[in-house]
Amino acid sequence: MHSPDPLNPAAPRPAQAVRRGETSESRGRTRLSQALGPLSRFRRDHWLLASVLASVSTLLVLTAPGFAGASLQPAERGRQIVELELPALLPGSEEAARIEAEVAARQGPDEANWRLVSVRPGQTMGAIFAEQGLPARTLHRLLEQPGARDPLTRFRPGTEFAFDISGEGELRALRFDRDEATRVVLHVDDSGIREEKLERELQRRIQMVSGSITASLSEATSRAGMSTATMLEMAKVFGYDIDFAQDLRVGDEFHVVYEDVYRDGERLRGGDILAATFVNRGKSYHVFRYTFADGKTEYFDAEGRPMQKSFLRTPVDFARISSRFTASRKHPVLGTMRAHRGVDYAAPTGTPIRAAGNGRIRFAGWQGGYGRTVIIDHGQGITTLYAHLSRFGPHKTGARVTQGSTIGFVGASGLATGPHLHYEFRVHGVHRDPLTVTLPKPEPLPRSELARFRQQTQPMLARLEVLAAGGQARASL
Ligand SMILES: [Zn+2]
Repeated sequence: MHSPDPLNPAAPRPAQAVRRGETSESRGRTRLSQALGPLSRFRRDHWLLASVLASVSTLLVLTAPGFAGASLQPAERGRQIVELELPALLPGSEEAARIEAEVAARQGPDEANWRLVSVRPGQTMGAIFAEQGLPARTLHRLLEQPGARDPLTRFRPGTEFAFDISGEGELRALRFDRDEATRVVLHVDDSGIREEKLERELQRRIQMVSGSITASLSEATSRAGMSTATMLEMAKVFGYDIDFAQDLRVGDEFHVVYEDVYRDGERLRGGDILAATFVNRGKSYHVFRYTFADGKTEYFDAEGRPMQKSFLRTPVDFARISSRFTASRKHPVLGTMRAHRGVDYAAPTGTPIRAAGNGRIRFAGWQGGYGRTVIIDHGQGITTLYAHLSRFGPHKTGARVTQGSTIGFVGASGLATGPHLHYEFRVHGVHRDPLTVTLPKPEPLPRSELARFRQQTQPMLARLEVLAAGGQARASL
């Protein structure tokens, strides 16, 4: 495919040139890691954490007792209230059916006799009904109940449903959790289906931690008692202002006020940051979580400006800059002097690349030395370009993308010495350095909202001040 871009590099050169390029590239890499000293180690940590946790963070928080315990005070560690359920019996076994029937008979017809089912990977509700010996027509009746279709058809492995089945093998009730605070029981009889809602009380506990970086961020946060999920959340909320892969230094400090959610005395989840301060290379950044009247939440700085900017700081998480924007440099492959009008991020092949901002895919295809390339048009004359992809994301040319959505994966297609993302930022067709380009600051909250914002965030600000004054102090309120 021929590109309309005049800056598109020339056609590929012989293999020797490529090898020469490799040497200069890897030398560059060594220099960089030497310059960064002790911090280069946690870049790798980070990467691992980011890639693993991106997919399983929820699961970890919900299941790993280590994470759950980490933010608790020692005295509270052992306290857990576990709801006792009749264990699920082996499906289909005659013995199981006999015991179930006997239990049901003993309890009398009015007592619910819950049989707990945990969804296995790939299992559908139809399969679960079949396994329980229930007819498909019962499931169809349930699906017609308003609000029941989603919870009964869209669920993850591990989701729990409880069945109350009569001695005659008829479904009397089905129980599930609509959300973390609402348990629903659908009672079934000949006359119809009746929904019963059980509200479960959630307790929110505010945690406060402080720490400073001596070796790595993950080490500092875990020393402070912060869970990995909360650490990643912190990296996300400050991510527009601080590049957690490039900018951190020994001596950087953080003070975080966050919330853990408990249900029935058990820690359900954690990680929602209410307010935080991050001191990076002597400069303080503040963030406050604000809930609008309609329940929507967003993060703002102390002036009430949204933390979320029009463009991401980096389109690849926890990647390392391997080449900066320069007016002239020796091209690693071609060996000639030429400008490098973008930033290279070294990252393993397959690392997701995220749209830097909202926009429309202008181009997704092969573009000479750029290899697999995506260009996004963000409007107002701004375009971003992503080159050397190993493969594309799900979007075709012309599709709308939102900031942060995956548009492709890091690779080494075209003229590249190793897997990296070549990223360009253009304003009205002129290349700008993505690391330094200044864009207009987002507008702060309107005056009417700002008063409410101040009122809501004031107690959090006070806590941050206490934390900052106390240094390493840590408390649970
Ligand atoms: Zn490049």
